[in-house]
Amino acid sequence: MDVYAIPLTTRFRGTTVREGLLIEGPAGWGEFCAFPEYPDAEAAAWFAGAREAAFDGWPAPVREMVPVNCIVPAVGPEQAADMVRASGCATAKVKVADHPDSAGEDLERVAAVRDALGSAGHVRVDANTGWAVDEAVVAIRALDRAAGGLQYVEQPCATLDELAAVRRRVDVPIAADEAIRRAADPLRVSLTDAADVAILKALPLGGVRRALQVAEAVGLPCVVSSALESSVGLAAEIALAAALPSLDYACGLGTGRLFTTDVVADADRLLPVNGELPVLRRAPDPVRRHQVAADAERTRWWRERAGRLIT
Ligand SMILES: [Mg+2]
Repeated sequence: MDVYAIPLTTRFRGTTVREGLLIEGPAGWGEFCAFPEYPDAEAAAWFAGAREAAFDGWPAPVREMVPVNCIVPAVGPEQAADMVRASGCATAKVKVADHPDSAGEDLERVAAVRDALGSAGHVRVDANTGWAVDEAVVAIRALDRAAGGLQYVEQPCATLDELAAVRRRVDVPIAADEAIRRAADPLRVSLTDAADVAILKALPLGGVRRALQVAEAVGLPCVVSSALESSVGLAAEIALAAALPSLDYACGLGTGRLFTTDVVADADRLLPVNGELPVLRRAPDPVRRHQVAADAERTRWWRERAGRLIT
């Protein structure tokens, strides 16, 4: 079991270095990378997703390419525009509500993204549960104007009741992410009234098969989004997007660009080209694995964590 530690190009979710553990089984390589602050009970689903990749493989794809959005973290407007132009994507997902006084910066960032994308592109925002209901309504209306139309807003508030309250008061579609992934039982979440779009992540949901069951249970258009994995783990998310019966929106799988390097060889990195990712899976590169290996203390931490989850 290898543990990697890779610096990110920009701070993301309060993190500057991403870590994970790679496991190899008869079906290929899997990645266990539940965020370090997650308790074992929540990390267990991620571990199941890694085991599925290594031991069972994934259901057959129904498409060969997956359209993706570019991701714009909480950066200044110029950097945001540069990121959009460099991506080649027609859809951009912009992080908002990153801190309590972010409203002005969020508007500038979203306007710069629209400018860089052109009128034919799609702009969506993700607040990661950062707003209260009234605050969300005000912010969404303003961002919708600044963006010249938002495709949807992801998880403006924390609870399903709050999402429903916001959804009654704004015209922008609402997407549920944390409300599904961090629910006690994602298969039993009722999104009626609360959301128009479901964000699914294979590894946090316990693997590709389980995420497909969640997709069927929620009965909404689904967007597959990464959990900030290396190219080994990202392949599981791509496999989910490739196996969904229908895919109406670009997926949030262009996150490889947030990594300064990868566990695979440079030529194997799963990075979008012209806004699309190929449906492929990757094995770590022996030299690269050595280069990105975590230090002894972090390696021990991850192995102990995985050891507690092996049942
Ligand atoms: Mg999200």
